[in-house]
Amino acid sequence: MSIEAATHEVIDALRTSLRGEVIDRDHPDYHQARRVWNGLIDRHPAVIARCADTDDVVEAVHIAAEFRPTVSIRGGGHQVAGSAVCDDGLVIDLSAMNGVEVDADRRVARAGGGATWGDVDRATQRFALATPGGEVSTTGIGGFTLGGGMGLLMRAHGLACDNLRAIEIVTADGVVRRANRVEHADLFWAARGGGRGLGVVTSFEYDLHPVGPEVAVAMVFYPYEDAAHIMRAWRDYAPYSPESVTPQLILWSVPPDPAIPAELHGQPTVVVQALYAGRADEADATLAPLRAFGPPLFDASGTMPYLDLQSSVDDLLPHGGRYFMKSHGADALNDDAIDTLLEWDAHRATPETLTAIRTLGGKIARISANESAFPHRGDRFNVSIDACWSRPQDDADVIAWARGMWDAFTPYSSGGTYINFAGLDDEPDGTRDRIYRESRTRLGDVRDTYDPEGLFAAAARRF
Ligand SMILES: Cc1cc2nc3c(=O)[nH]c(=O)nc-3n(C[C@H](O)[C@H](O)[C@H](O)COP(=O)(O)OP(=O)(O)OC[C@H]3O[C@@H](n4cnc5c(N)ncnc54)[C@H](O)[C@@H]3O)c2cc1C
Repeated sequence: MSIEAATHEVIDALRTSLRGEVIDRDHPDYHQARRVWNGLIDRHPAVIARCADTDDVVEAVHIAAEFRPTVSIRGGGHQVAGSAVCDDGLVIDLSAMNGVEVDADRRVARAGGGATWGDVDRATQRFALATPGGEVSTTGIGGFTLGGGMGLLMRAHGLACDNLRAIEIVTADGVVRRANRVEHADLFWAARGGGRGLGVVTSFEYDLHPVGPEVAVAMVFYPYEDAAHIMRAWRDYAPYSPESVTPQLILWSVPPDPAIPAELHGQPTVVVQALYAGRADEADATLAPLRAFGPPLFDASGTMPYLDLQSSVDDLLPHGGRYFMKSHGADALNDDAIDTLLEWDAHRATPETLTAIRTLGGKIARISANESAFPHRGDRFNVSIDACWSRPQDDADVIAWARGMWDAFTPYSSGGTYINFAGLDDEPDGTRDRIYRESRTRLGDVRDTYDPEGLFAAAARRF
């Protein structure tokens, strides 16, 4: 059968079987539906199956198993490599499966596989509860959690994947399985940090913790000319700070926030940020050291609704902007490492581009290495180079700059690259070793067990 005929058969079968929308190249929403967050990605799938529920996912997986198109899985569509979409294949799109149920008494939330952190946070904050999520509300929980999931609560409560109680997953044989520490424990191990190519996760169940609705936040904009000193002082403090904070340092530009004096907008700065994971009125002493590294340009620390914090940079990283993110784990940030970052940042690709250094440790490091597939628990820091730009004609230069900075930092790296900040599809050989580290072989075994025919092989190969 020709590829065209097979494609028509796939589309017809999906139309017959699914309750959700089936979007082919002639559909009026096709171009909107094939786009992901990163405007750099311009792929043309043959068909997008926007599943309405788990039954739809089962049908889509059966049809994929029969006709064997290339398959990609779309959660929130945020992965910068654009792995949610494929050329000429079938996209299993979960974006309509975004419901969230909260059991406040048991402190559990169950969210659909296509939910975003905004969906989860809005539902859980009604009960002043939260699970550790991302820092941009439009990010999907799917790729985020399956890759680990770093956020402002992680030293207190762990990564997003550490808060998973269970998943519901449709594996390549079309069977709906519940995986947790007891049932399909190997699959549950893999789903926590092993990321891709295990099946289609139709729901995630998370532990919840008391957070908000008001939270205390350190948010200090230090002068860029003091960056070398601020970074050293932060490096000496952050890994030893109480676990109730997850200090983050960002080389960035002052955002055009009306609460910040207009004359500072756009100036290069060193942002020191942390959320206190406890009662807002008890935060001052814990946050004080982060506010005392030197005279600030502007100190925006204070209390704010958790929901506002979790969406505070949404507008600065818009849908359709162009992005390249790539990271290193680091055990220490010695003075040479800091100077290297500053040398590259001095000719930052664009003013919107940022380099974020997150502090790990705390709860993350106390979970044993064998407990989950997330392989970076020993790292003290994650250094993420996040290039952001808008003009297509700048693509090559910006990406070359970001890769150059990443290469320059390699001597100071622990050897790990976090899958959720892993670059584009053409990263060099060895990137998968850096991503999965000592979990790689066992992950391969789990994939072979649940997907012996490689239905999700394309998803497993990508980031
Ligand atoms: C603006 C922005 C901010 C970010 N902030 C953070 C942050 O604070 N912390 C952090 O750790 N990361 C962050 N990230 C990175 C983010 O974690 C990854 O991009 C992640 O993949 C996003 O998940 P998604 O579901 O939106 O991605 P998608 O692009 O939809 O999915 C990526 C891949 O994950 C798999 N996948 C997704 N959902 C499912 C599912 N339900 N079942 C099976 N497989 C699935 C698929 O293989 C898919 O190809 C950010 C990214 C962006 C663009």
